[in-house]
Amino acid sequence: MATLLIHHIRAVLLNARTGETLSDAAIAVHANVIAWVGPTDDIPCEYLDADRIVNAADHVVIPGLVNTHHHLYQTLTRAVATGSELFPWLTTLYPMWARLTAESVYTSALVGMAELMLSGCTTTSDHLYLFPNDASIDDEIRAGADIGMRFHAARGSMSLGESDGGLPPDSVVQSADEILQDTARAIEEHHDPAEFAMTRLVVAPCSPFSVTADLMRESAVLARHYGVAMHTHLAETHDEQTFCLETFGHKPVAYAEDLGWVGSDVWWAHGVVLSEEEVKLVGSTRTGVAHCPTSNMRLASGIAPVTSLVDTDARVGIGVDGSASNDGSHMLGEVRQTMLLQRVARHSTLFSHMRALELATIGGAEVLGRSDIGTISVGKAADIVGFDLNDIAYTGALHDPVAALVFCAPTTVSFSVINGRVVVENRVLQTIDLDETLSRHRDLSKGVIVG
Ligand SMILES: [Zn+2]
Repeated sequence: MATLLIHHIRAVLLNARTGETLSDAAIAVHANVIAWVGPTDDIPCEYLDADRIVNAADHVVIPGLVNTHHHLYQTLTRAVATGSELFPWLTTLYPMWARLTAESVYTSALVGMAELMLSGCTTTSDHLYLFPNDASIDDEIRAGADIGMRFHAARGSMSLGESDGGLPPDSVVQSADEILQDTARAIEEHHDPAEFAMTRLVVAPCSPFSVTADLMRESAVLARHYGVAMHTHLAETHDEQTFCLETFGHKPVAYAEDLGWVGSDVWWAHGVVLSEEEVKLVGSTRTGVAHCPTSNMRLASGIAPVTSLVDTDARVGIGVDGSASNDGSHMLGEVRQTMLLQRVARHSTLFSHMRALELATIGGAEVLGRSDIGTISVGKAADIVGFDLNDIAYTGALHDPVAALVFCAPTTVSFSVINGRVVVENRVLQTIDLDETLSRHRDLSKGVIVG
C-alpha cells in the first residue's frame, strides 16, 4: 500500500483540544491512516523512502477541518434576498430551488466541496432537503466520490406545504411515504458504518416549519433502526419559536424533545434561540449543535450561546451553512468568525483561537459521531491540511503560526490530504477540472435564478 511522508513541517497542530503542537515535525501515512508522527530528525527508516514525499518547510499543518452544516446546492443562489431575515429569505428562494435538477445538484455539490477543500475542510456534511424534477441524494454522493471528500450526506425532507400551514410552497414538498422509502433506500445503498468511511448517510427532516410532527417521529424511528445519525434545523430564529408556540404549543426544544429529537445521535443546526434551561438540556443529553456564525449574522438571527454550550458538555461543531446565507464555504474563515462572534457576545477575549480550532476539528468529528478523524495522531484517518506561511496574510505573525491561521485573513490551503490521498497540491485541486466545473455551474445558476 502507498506511503506518504510530510516532513520538515514548521509547525503542526496535533490536537486542538490539548493544544499539543510540534515544530520541525514529520507525519508518515500508510495507505489512508496516520502511521507515525514526530520530529523530522527521528523519522523511522521505513518511511524515509516513502512513495511520495512532501517538504512542508514554511507550512503550518493542522488536522483537516470538519464542516457540520451545509446546503451545497445553494452555491447556485448566492447573494439573493440580501435584505431579508430567515422566513422571507426562504419564501424568496424556494421557487428558485424548485428548478433544481440532478445535474445542478451534482455540479453545485462539486463547487461547494471544492471551495471547502481549498479552505482546509476534509470532511463535510450536507443537508439536501428538496428533490424537485430528477434530483436525488445520489447526485451529491456521486460528487463527493468524484472529488474525493469525506462526506456525510443528510437525506433531508419537507412534508409540510403551505396548504397545510407550513412555510414552503406545496411544489417542493414530498409525501411522508416517499421520503421514508427513499431515505431507507439511500441508507441501504450508500451508508458505510466502518471506520475511515468516506460516505455516511444521515436522516434529516428540514425544520419544524416544513415537516409534520409525524414525519419527525417516523424519521427518528427509521434512523435508529439503521443506527445512523439524525440532523435538523432547530432554534434558529425567534420567528421559528413563535411558529412552534402557535402551531404545536411548545418552544422548539420542547417540541424536539417530545419527538425523540435529542441525544448523542442527534445534532441540530444553529441552536441560537436557547434559554439557560435549554442549554443545560442540550448538554445533559449530549445533543450536538452545528454553530453557523456567518449565516446567523447574515440573516440577523442572533448569536448562539456557544460558550455556554461548550461549558455544559454539549457536542459543538462549526458549519458554514448553505451558500445562500453565508454566502461562501470558507471553513477556515468560519473558524475565525466563531472566535470573533463569541468575543462580541461575551464582551470577553476568553474564547481563544485554539477553542475555535477545537470546535472545527475534534468538535465537528464528535458532532458527526466519529472518533477516527479530528486529530493528527497514530491510527487516525490521514486527513491533513497545510497552509503556506509565506502567504501575504501571515507575514508578521510567524512567531505563532497556529494563532496566525485564525487571527489573520483566511487563505487557501497549500496542500490537502484526505484519506491518505493528496487532493490539493500547490493550491490546486487535483481531483476535478475546476474551471470546467465552474463554467457549467455559472450556466446552471443563471437558469435557477432567472428561470
Ligand atoms: Zn441550514
